[in-house]
Amino acid sequence: MAKTRMMTRKGECYLCGYVGQTEEHHCFGGPNRKLSEHYGLKVYLCIPCHRTGPNAVHDSKNGSENRQILHEDAQRAFEAHWGSRGYFMEVFGRNYLDEE
Ligand SMILES: [Zn+2]
Ligand SMILES: [Zn+2]
Repeated sequence: MAKTRMMTRKGECYLCGYVGQTEEHHCFGGPNRKLSEHYGLKVYLCIPCHRTGPNAVHDSKNGSENRQILHEDAQRAFEAHWGSRGYFMEVFGRNYLDEE
């Protein structure tokens, strides 16, 4: 089936542009992790941006800003591919793009 493709390359961090070792990150975690996998809403992140840095996306307190960036970009990629905000909200249960 056709998957949504986020702009991402293995070996290049989606957030900071670091070139080197990267890890795969699912843009939507928890109960939506499987949906991220299914729709290809994944990016490659360097290890500090992913897990160990001060603003790592898996840092529950300080990662919220970076998580939001990935949520928004993933939703935009999904909508560009499927052409519908309604479908995104149907699948993921909320809208990330009008929250600021
Ligand atoms: Zn990075
Ligand atoms: Zn991750």
